[in-house]
Amino acid sequence: MHIVVCIKQVPDATQVKIDPKTNTLDRSSAPAILNPYDAHAVQAAVDLKKAYGGKVSVITMGPMQARDIIRKSLEYGADEGVLLSDRAFAGSDTLATSYIISKGLEKINSTDPIDLIICGKQAIDGDTAQVGPGIARRLNITQLTYVNKIVSVNLETREIIVHRVIDQGYEVVKAKLPCVITVEKEINELIYSSLPEMIKAARYVAPMWGVTEIGADLSQMGLKGSPTTVRKIFAPPEREGGERLTGSTTEIVNNLVNKLLEKIV
Ligand SMILES: Cc1cc2nc3c(=O)[nH]c(=O)nc-3n(C[C@H](O)[C@H](O)[C@H](O)COP(=O)(O)OP(=O)(O)OC[C@H]3O[C@@H](n4cnc5c(N)ncnc54)[C@H](O)[C@@H]3O)c2cc1C
Repeated sequence: MHIVVCIKQVPDATQVKIDPKTNTLDRSSAPAILNPYDAHAVQAAVDLKKAYGGKVSVITMGPMQARDIIRKSLEYGADEGVLLSDRAFAGSDTLATSYIISKGLEKINSTDPIDLIICGKQAIDGDTAQVGPGIARRLNITQLTYVNKIVSVNLETREIIVHRVIDQGYEVVKAKLPCVITVEKEINELIYSSLPEMIKAARYVAPMWGVTEIGADLSQMGLKGSPTTVRKIFAPPEREGGERLTGSTTEIVNNLVNKLLEKIV
C-alpha cells in the first residue's frame, strides 16, 4: 500500500508575535514547524503501513527550509519525501497550491501508484482547510474530510472505511481507493521517534521538483494563477468592555430584563 501525506511547514502559532506598527504577523519571531494536523496525518499513514504493509511518502510545497519537515516526517516513520519548490510557485492561493501539489502527486503516481492521500484537516496559519479537498477535485477522486478514525482498509476490494466527525457525533463512510482523507488530531496519539529513524532522517535530502519536473502550467500558479486577492489585512478593533450591572440579584435581573425589552421594542 502506497500512502502519500501532504505536509506543510507553518510558523509555531504559540510563538508568533504581532508587529505593533503594521498589525501583521511577524513570522520571523516564530520557528517553523510541521503543521500539527499533518504530524497526525503522517502518524496515521505510518500506522496503516504497520497494519497493511507498504510505503509512506510525504510531499510538501514550500521553500528549501521545508526539507526540515520532510526529515521530521521520516523521524515519525515515513520512508521518503519530495519538496516542490520553484520561484514560480510564490504567491499561490489555495486553488493554485492544490494544482501544484496535485501535479506533484501525479508525477509520483506515474512511477509508484498511490493508494491513499492523507492531508491534515487544516493548516494552522492559512486555516482554510481547502487544499485537501482541492487536491481531490483536481485528481477527480473521492474526498473524506474530518476523519477521526480509520476503521479498515481492504486492498482486495480497494475500499477504506472511516469515521467522519459531524455535529451530532460521527458517521461511518466507505469509499473506493484511491481517495483523499483529511484528518483530525484525535485520530491518534503521536509516538516518540526511535533513534534509528532519527539518524536516517537527519541524513535524508529530499529531491526537489519545480515547474519543469512536474510539467505544470505556469498560468495556473503564483499571483497570476490565483483568483483570490487579499484586499486588506488588519487587526480587529479591541473589544470595549460591556456594561456591568450592580445591586441585589432582583435589581440586576429587573434591570437586565428592562434593557433587553428596550432593545426588542
Ligand atoms: C491571495 C493569496 C496569496 C498568497 N500568497 C502566498 C505567498 O506568497 N506565499 C505563501 O507562502 N503563501 C501564500 N498564500 C497562502 C497559501 O495559499 C496557503 O498557505 C496555501 O494555499 C495553503 O492553504 P492553507 O494554509 O489554508 O492550508 P489548508 O487548506 O488549511 O491545509 C490543509 C492541508 O492541506 C495540506 N497542505 C496545505 N498546504 C500545503 C503545502 N504547501 N504543501 C503540502 N501540503 C499542504 C496539508 O495536509 C494541510 O494540513 C497566499 C494565499 C492567498 C489567498
